[in-house]
Amino acid sequence: MKIIVIGGGAAGFFTAINIAEKHPEYNVCILEKTRKLLSKVKVSGGGRCNVTNERSRPSELVRFYPRGSKKLHQVFKRFSTTDMVTWLSKRGIETKAEEDQRMFPMSNSSQTIIDCFLKQAARFKVSILQNETLTALNQTGNQWQVTTTNQIYEADKVVIATGSSPSTWKVLEQVGLAITPIVPSLFTFNIKDERIKHLPGISFAEARVKIAGSKLEENGPLLITHWGLSGPVILKLSAWGAYELESKTYQFDILVNFVGGLAPDEVRKHLVQYREANPKRKVINYPLFDVPKRFWDSIISCCCIASETPFSELSKKQLNKLVEELAQGKYVVHGKSTFKDEFVTAGGVKLSEVDLETFECKRFPNLYIAGEVLDIDALTGGFNFQACWSAGWIISESI
Ligand SMILES: Cc1cc2nc3c(=O)[nH]c(=O)nc-3n(C[C@H](O)[C@H](O)[C@H](O)COP(=O)(O)OP(=O)(O)OC[C@H]3O[C@@H](n4cnc5c(N)ncnc54)[C@H](O)[C@@H]3O)c2cc1C
Repeated sequence: MKIIVIGGGAAGFFTAINIAEKHPEYNVCILEKTRKLLSKVKVSGGGRCNVTNERSRPSELVRFYPRGSKKLHQVFKRFSTTDMVTWLSKRGIETKAEEDQRMFPMSNSSQTIIDCFLKQAARFKVSILQNETLTALNQTGNQWQVTTTNQIYEADKVVIATGSSPSTWKVLEQVGLAITPIVPSLFTFNIKDERIKHLPGISFAEARVKIAGSKLEENGPLLITHWGLSGPVILKLSAWGAYELESKTYQFDILVNFVGGLAPDEVRKHLVQYREANPKRKVINYPLFDVPKRFWDSIISCCCIASETPFSELSKKQLNKLVEELAQGKYVVHGKSTFKDEFVTAGGVKLSEVDLETFECKRFPNLYIAGEVLDIDALTGGFNFQACWSAGWIISESI
């Protein structure tokens, strides 16, 4: 049996090595477009590879996948995060969970994962051909003819694991597979605003951010950067709002609550109580709600509160403005930037094309699809890789 896996990335390798381990009699071959193997694994997690997540219940995991979501329940039931941890451990790779439940190899190096995959591939005689770009795919009876830039191969089964590759989606469209339009996910917001311009590096442990005129609203840590706003809360919004924000051409307003989501009325009440208890204290010297001092200085200045003003002399207008800046600060987003640690594409081969029991195409027998090429993507946290591992494992079982 000849099995060709297209793509030498996370999903391609994991699928190929598991098939080859289970079936030493099969001829398993990876065709990779570039000269590099597992290049995204190498740079993943800032070079540490956030390989999976400590959360393991399928019902909990699916909540991290804006595209895929509940359909992945059965997939994670078959091969979950704990299965991946065990898989690695059996091959000598120990992992650790961080406080936020992201999991990394104990070595803190993505090279550990790469070395493991390369070792498994060599051990089970997976052949790897590089500089081979898939250009066409044709069904010939029960078999597949794989055309690359170099030659034509015949295969009994083909696994497509080409990640985010526009030219490959075109090839798959030519085969007849339906593709959901591709848009970026996991990006940060570009904002030019005097209030935050001088504050890169300042973070808020818990912020609430709402896209104005939309239902999109998330909470979590927020980070001011040189180009605008980033941090988990922004990345979550970019993932859940991938299509909506693209339709706005990444031009929209956001309302930022810097005080843990405390309602404006609560913020006002607290400020008034503080004013009554500390009338003589200068506003500038007492940042409330644990906001960073430099941010407090910036909004005090934007509220036109002079540096000498004590709490007792705050005008109604100033108080209102302070409440607004803390609980509903309006910022104009004009574009997006790629998040340095992790970005993915939303869209890809529609999940309705694939039987998630096997990851085989429903209308095209012996053609399997795994990884980012599918219309599955997740929030940051090791979930994107987990979707690759689960699909690869299920394909290896099914084949
Ligand atoms: C900087 C960065 C950091 C990330 N960090 C993390 C992280 O820590 N944890 C996490 O869960 N996710 C992370 N991700 C997301 C994760 O890397 C992807 O979800 C994952 O790599 C997808 O795996 P894949 O095998 O589907 O695609 P890829 O890993 O992209 O592999 C696809 C392979 O197919 C090849 N290919 C494409 N077209 C063809 C063709 N026509 N013919 C032959 N070969 C082809 C490509 O060259 C590539 O080698 C990160 C992403 C980025 C960009």
